[in-house]
Amino acid sequence: MNCDDVRVALSARLDGEDPRLPSAALDAHTDSCPGCRSWLARAERVTRLTRLRAVDVPDLTAPVLAAASRAVSRSAATALAPGRG
Ligand SMILES: [Zn+2]
Repeated sequence: MNCDDVRVALSARLDGEDPRLPSAALDAHTDSCPGCRSWLARAERVTRLTRLRAVDVPDLTAPVLAAASRAVSRSAATALAPGRG
């Protein structure tokens, strides 16, 4: 098991895939190998940023509320119109 094997496995584990190597062996290597430790720190940061961006959707709360408010006042006006004289 060399550093490349470990990094491939760590990357798979970060992606939620089967690392194909025992987690204990990966953690033991990462603990004893500064190169893989800093590689893992960078990979975790990239994975986190990617996930944050993936759920970054536009906030449509204001337009939806505005549309709903317009719909309510339109239906209220329609409901009141026949009663007015
Ligand atoms: Zn290593």
